Amino acid sequence: MPPIAPSAAKPRQLFIDGEWCDALSGRTFESINPATQEINALVAEAEAADIDRAVQAAARAQPRWAATSAAERGRFLWKISERLRERREELARIESRDVGKPLRDALGDIDTAADVLEYWAGAPTKITGDVMPVAGEMLNYVVREPIGVVAAIVPWNFPLQIATLKIGPALACGNTVVLKPAEDTPLSALELARIAAEVGLPRGVFNVVPGYGRTAGEALVRHPKVGKVAFTGSLATGRAIMHACADQMKRVSLELGGKSPLVVFADADVEAAARAAVLGICANAGQICCATTRLFVEDRVREPLLAAMQEELKHVRVGDPLDPATRMGPLVSKKQLERVENYIRVGREEGATLLCGGDRPNGLDKGFFLNPTFFGNVRGTMRIAREEIFGPVLCVQEFADAETALRDANDSDYALAASVWTRDVAKAHGFARRLRAGSVWVNTVLQSSVLSPWGGPGNSGQGRDNAMQAVDHYTEWKSVWIDTSATPPPSAFR
Ligand code: NAD
Repeated sequence: MPPIAPSAAKPRQLFIDGEWCDALSGRTFESINPATQEINALVAEAEAADIDRAVQAAARAQPRWAATSAAERGRFLWKISERLRERREELARIESRDVGKPLRDALGDIDTAADVLEYWAGAPTKITGDVMPVAGEMLNYVVREPIGVVAAIVPWNFPLQIATLKIGPALACGNTVVLKPAEDTPLSALELARIAAEVGLPRGVFNVVPGYGRTAGEALVRHPKVGKVAFTGSLATGRAIMHACADQMKRVSLELGGKSPLVVFADADVEAAARAAVLGICANAGQICCATTRLFVEDRVREPLLAAMQEELKHVRVGDPLDPATRMGPLVSKKQLERVENYIRVGREEGATLLCGGDRPNGLDKGFFLNPTFFGNVRGTMRIAREEIFGPVLCVQEFADAETALRDANDSDYALAASVWTRDVAKAHGFARRLRAGSVWVNTVLQSSVLSPWGGPGNSGQGRDNAMQAVDHYTEWKSVWIDTSATPPPSAFR
């Protein structure tokens, strides 16, 4: 058994109906620090019976929450975002220890989470209905109504930030929430529950139930009182959830994986493209849904681009996430490290050429660290070019003309994001239009904001997080008809 850090001694409890409680089974699981393999915390493990308690509490609280004035709902979200900012440093350390991400990245995550809730704090008073120009002496108005209980199921790569993408719109629209964080990273979600309690959010409105996907997650998705599932995670889990939701005609939105291309033309600023390409694969140790994992470079600039990337790589310091000088931490778990290393083996067997990395860094034996890894001689049919690896592993391919670049960039079942590098305005706009992706970045990478819809078609999912477009996923339209004629209409049958 790994060593227990002193702060881990007390198990973290579930947060249900405004109260902290143990799992009914009394079971706990370990949250491991991926940089040291120490136990960060023992966490109460929710199973079906606990999920039922949480959903029942959320269902009881929902009508009252929906009846709370829009302004008041917004004020609660604002207060939570303020508390996130006040506790920024502490929360970033918790996130950094749980995920293994460099502290400065974790600080950015907390800022984004606060921005997201701040945005949704302003939303309730702007979510309106409409009056429709129907024929005859009829008044027809349409109103948005909350769906009910929203199950938010999130992954481990941006635990707090992704949770807020679901919680913000769900609560703003008058739904209540049961949040199941990923089993590898439950701690920041529990801190969010603590903050919700501190700001006086009514009991049952927000519940947090850490546990495993196969037990807690499935029970939550299948609970008959859950009206909508808001999911971010892998394609396989997304499919399973969609099947389960189909059985009950349940609303579902899915933010899934990616295999995003980054296309560099010869006329681009090659130095800037090189920096972006390294950022696109090394940020969060490559564990980003929109990581630019497929690099397509015009053959004339392949050598200078790769040379500039090697230069940039020297600045990607891999190490202790809490050290301010660290730029890349470990992968989140032993399982994830082994999964990525298996893909590196597969790449070699498929005949790709290892350009750099592929091994673990020296002197970091305690954690799940991996060096940034680039493969050349990649063909679009190889598994490493088609499947989501979710680690710092880049596939490099060349192209001779724009049409080939576009065809190869679009040759993926995923379509979350794409990046194109050129100084030619017509080419940039042409690619922005013809690239199949939910987000297109021109001369930049990894851009997202709560102000702009996020998600992608194909295997990247269904629906959009962020911006007012998300409101559609958390409300039902109701159409109300009122006969305004002075005299009642005659019988339709006589
Ligand atoms: P995962 O699918 O394994 O797990 C995600 C969550 O689902 C976890 O909380 C897990 O416990 C739960 N879960 C697992 N099986 C379940 C089941 N049968 N029923 C209900 N819940 C279940 O994903 P992960 O490994 O935690 O995260 C990495 C994945 O997330 C990658 O594919 C990545 O691309 C994706 N991701 C997508 C976005 C996006 O915005 N599109 C953002 C971040 C991550």
